[in-house]
This record gives sequence, C-alpha cells and structure tokens, in this order.
Amino acid sequence: MSLKVTLLGTGVGIPQPGRSQSAMLIESEMPLLFDCGAGTLLRLEQAGLDIEALDTAVLTHLHLDHVSDLLALAKARYLSQLYALEIYGPLGTARWFETLQSAFPYLEKMQTNVHEVRPMDSFQLKSCEIFAEEARHSVTALAYRIEAQDKVVVYSGDTEPSARIAALADGSDLLIHECSFPEPFEVTNHSTPRRLGNMLRNTNVKRVVLIHLYPQAEGLEEEMADAVSNCTGLPVEVGYDLQIIIV
Ligand SMILES: [Zn+2]
Ligand SMILES: [Zn+2]
Repeated sequence: MSLKVTLLGTGVGIPQPGRSQSAMLIESEMPLLFDCGAGTLLRLEQAGLDIEALDTAVLTHLHLDHVSDLLALAKARYLSQLYALEIYGPLGTARWFETLQSAFPYLEKMQTNVHEVRPMDSFQLKSCEIFAEEARHSVTALAYRIEAQDKVVVYSGDTEPSARIAALADGSDLLIHECSFPEPFEVTNHSTPRRLGNMLRNTNVKRVVLIHLYPQAEGLEEEMADAVSNCTGLPVEVGYDLQIIIV
C-alpha cells in the first residue's frame, strides 16, 4: 500500500513565480489537508481534488501564509452545502477561528469543530495516526508525523532546525521540511541548508523534500538541496507546486 503526497504550495508570504503559499495534501483512504495558505483552493482544483472529500484541515500554526485560504475552503463547502469541517491546530486555534468566522455570520451555518493540539499529542484522522511535536518558530507551531499504510511522512511546518523534529523524522519514509533561505543567510525561526543538514546528520530518512522557499532562494534550489545532502548523506530535493510523491 502507498501514501500519496501532493505539495500544493511550496512558497511563502511573498508572491513569486510558481509557488503558492503553504499547503500539502496526504491521501490514504481519504484526503487530509495540511496547512491552507493563499492559493490552496486553486491548487486543490488543479490537483483534481473535489472539495466534497475534503472536510479536514490540519494546521501547523496560524501565520497567514499557512491559513489564508481556510475561510475560502469553508465558504466553498458552505456553497456546496457541505457543512462539516474539522480543523486541527495549535493552542489558540479555536478562539482564532471563532473570531474569523464572526466576521461572516452566514458561515456560522457550518458545523465546524476545532480541535486544539498540543506537542506530544497523538490522534487518529481517517486512516492516519498523527503525532504532533513542537516546532521552533516565532509563534506556537507544530510539526506532524503522519503514519498510514505502514508508511511515515513527517511535515515540519515552519521551524528552525530542531532536535525534536529530527527525532520525530527518524525512521520516516519522507521528510517534508522547510528551508526558507539559501546560504549564507542567517535567520531565526526558519531553516537554512547547512544548519538543517547538521541537525539531520544522524537522522535516518529515506527522502527529504525542501519546501517553504523565499524568493531569495530562486535559482539556488539545487545548491540548497546539495548542501543538506552533503551534511546528511540523504537524498534531498527541493519540492515544487503540484509535485506528487508516492511513498
Ligand atoms: Zn510561520
Ligand atoms: Zn510560513
């Protein structure tokens, strides 16, 4: 059995050619959406996914480039008379979503359930077992380990290189990790190739795909993947929008 991962958006808050904001789809029996940045609805359509099947979104954190299209998804389901919507996200997600929704009273017809997730929580979603871990970012943020069909995918969300996330990814089939800036940028709250590579040095992962690229990374994708690969000996590539990865 296999898991199908579709990178819907590999970009960030600054517009750039070809990269929509953060979103990823994992399909085992049913599709699960991870993050829902601006452009996600269009990417879902381009990926051939019917929103009827999409009633669950899992958020890593509440930055706009990861959540901008969540209300758009709610509206699309509302217009299609699909009122169920399950949202998983870090602490604060419930109050945040309530505030958003209150600006659009008709959306209150939606039967939205918000589930707040803490680091180290695990929960079952469709046929996936999901574990949450703390990410190192400027706001409360989570990384997720998704297990289904005997396969393991880890999604970092936004984070500095983190020993916790390296441990979460150990033994996984696929690590989708942010790598926001190329060398020689020095940043906090995000990852750069050499620091990420050093963190993953002893992590056993079958394949690493880098996402969440700022425009400064344009043209340096191969160099970034090589830098992470040289530190780790792992196969590393830079992801692109609508890339399908079968695990
Ligand atoms: Zn962020
Ligand atoms: Zn981001």
